[in-house]
Amino acid sequence: MPTPETLHSWDFEHVWHPFTQANEWESAGEPLIIERAEGCTLIDVHGNRYLDGISSLWTNVHGHQNPVINQAICDQVKRVSHSTMLGQAGVPNIVLAKRLSDLLQRIPGPEKALTRTFYSDSGSTSVEVALKMAFQYQQQIGQTQRHRFAALSEAYHGDTIGSVSVGGIDLFHQIYRPLLFNAVRIPAPDQAVKEEELECLRVARQQFAVHGNEIAALVVEPLVQGAAGMRMHSVEYLREIIGMAREAGALVICDEVAVGFGRTGTMFAMEQVGVRPDIMCLAKGISGGYLPLAATVVSETVYDAFRGPYEQYKTLFHGHTYTGNALCCAAALANLDVFEQQNVIEGLPKRIAALEQALDELPKPFIAELRQKGMMGAAVLHHNRDATARVGHQVTMAARRHGVVVRPLGDSIIFMPPLAMSVDEIRLLGRAVGQAIRDVLDA
Ligand code: PMP
Repeated sequence: MPTPETLHSWDFEHVWHPFTQANEWESAGEPLIIERAEGCTLIDVHGNRYLDGISSLWTNVHGHQNPVINQAICDQVKRVSHSTMLGQAGVPNIVLAKRLSDLLQRIPGPEKALTRTFYSDSGSTSVEVALKMAFQYQQQIGQTQRHRFAALSEAYHGDTIGSVSVGGIDLFHQIYRPLLFNAVRIPAPDQAVKEEELECLRVARQQFAVHGNEIAALVVEPLVQGAAGMRMHSVEYLREIIGMAREAGALVICDEVAVGFGRTGTMFAMEQVGVRPDIMCLAKGISGGYLPLAATVVSETVYDAFRGPYEQYKTLFHGHTYTGNALCCAAALANLDVFEQQNVIEGLPKRIAALEQALDELPKPFIAELRQKGMMGAAVLHHNRDATARVGHQVTMAARRHGVVVRPLGDSIIFMPPLAMSVDEIRLLGRAVGQAIRDVLDA
């Protein structure tokens, strides 16, 4: 391995880091360079250890170096690492599609179940695919005027142009506006405040009354709008807007990229809502946080609209090179095995309670608000410094000195520990962030 100094200089010369301002990156000194990991701990090139407080961008589920997932990937490498799904099939991708279909039966509803999986490789592509499917579905059932999508304010669905079009975070999305299609915006409440929700629903009703006939699908992050800073709405709000979409003849796309695979306390957030979407987007935790894999899972109603003689061109002409990659699917199957073998969902309440306590013990004078749903949490910082002080960023940098990795979303510090993080580790995570907040704001 090159020395840490060499890696540092090569990084500064050759790497473009996502969501990162180059000037800031380069002026911050030696970057954190991860070399390996064990359980919920990341280890850098100097051997320093850090609790992974954000599950390596909300993906890791059962910890790093999980023996079951490691073994499954090694076993699959010895069979085949990748073979295309275009015009042929592969063992792990078939088995995973069946397992996902069985799992998604947990979401009840009179609509047809989610039984048909289309693979891609990131949350963004899972949404991009869902949008194209919904649009083409409507075209092919004769609803040719349905050219638009309804999406929530402050939504985040990824970074590709279609998913950015349904996104609503100006900081990330504004510059691309001239390239984007114009979504019908449904206001989303913050923190499920009843009056605010009622007002949002009133505007939503108006939007559907005016534009309902143009909308191909409603796309929504159920229960928690993660990247917006953990904005939450109630089950009732979600049921209402889904009802409006269905009444208007639109499909319902649930983006469970962030909330899926146990994050909100149930395997899928829509289990709590008790409504079956037509299309579900899954990524991040699907492979246990190991490999890039995503699934867009649809009902047979959607799939059937793509059938017909070849020359009617009803085919979905979409497919990425690494679609259904065998290693990714093997990791995903092992991830599901660990969920079952270790009763991971049943073990969540004590961890969720520990996270609640850790948030509650953060130094109160510097906290404006706490947000939590399951194993997703955010502490909104209270201070009177202006935006250029980048207080959230400063706190996460200070947190590293106390041995934890967290990330800010503006002035919020995000807590997204792997589901496997122990109660003691969650306590340590909270204390380290608390100390970091004091370091920055009590100075
Ligand atoms: N949808 C949601 C709800 C997300 O939180 C994210 C990523 N944070 C995405 C889509 C995009 O996923 P990816 O970064 O894997 O493209």
